[in-house]
Amino acid sequence: MEIKKVGSRGTLITFYDLGIATNIYVIHGKKYTYMIDTYLGPDIIKPVKDLIKGAHDKTPVIIINTHSHWDHVWGNSLFSGSIIISHKKCREYMQSEGLKELKENAKYQKGEVILTYPNLTLTDKLCFEEDHLLIWHTPGHTDDSISILDMADGVLFAGDNLERPIPYLMSKELVRYIDTLQDYLKIDAGILIGGHTACEDKKLAEDNLDYVRRVLSGESIVMESKEFEEYHRVNLEYLNQKA
Ligand SMILES: [Zn+2]
Repeated sequence: MEIKKVGSRGTLITFYDLGIATNIYVIHGKKYTYMIDTYLGPDIIKPVKDLIKGAHDKTPVIIINTHSHWDHVWGNSLFSGSIIISHKKCREYMQSEGLKELKENAKYQKGEVILTYPNLTLTDKLCFEEDHLLIWHTPGHTDDSISILDMADGVLFAGDNLERPIPYLMSKELVRYIDTLQDYLKIDAGILIGGHTACEDKKLAEDNLDYVRRVLSGESIVMESKEFEEYHRVNLEYLNQKA
């Protein structure tokens, strides 16, 4: 577990158990402490919970799930008494696909995972005015993806919509993905963080946008490395699947 302070009130916590970086981002607001994503299960999240509590004992914790995928939601059970926010579809996907994902990836769970669904859902946007925090629907990597903007620090947490060097496409609605990435470029944010990236800037959003546009146009794309060639091939395979 790596801990990095970001801006005046952010903490980026990065784990490497899956062979890639996976992030949790904490924003210490005046009214609430917001914890974005909960990673692989209660055992690995307990130290994070203690860390948050230790620093800001009286501030209630609000959990935000960026999307329904298992590598971002399994620690929810440790916060079953808290508000857990997601897009409405994220809750629905966890209800319909969560058990299957848990069975398929059970070896990665840290502690006994009890699927715990978001209990406050949005379809468009939600603003914590006094904490200067905006949460809004940003379809892209998946159609249930939401993003979080810390307006006080100019930090955008984009979930898996931002990925280095190219995003995984798990929704076929590429036009909406392009809208989302264009949105990111307009936002007043100097630091952009994805679910599996480091602290980035808008260059990564530009690069991801360029990639999605080229895929949409049907252009043939040559990746620099064999590994990323494989990512790209998986993306095309997904897009070509029948509905
Ligand atoms: Zn992910």
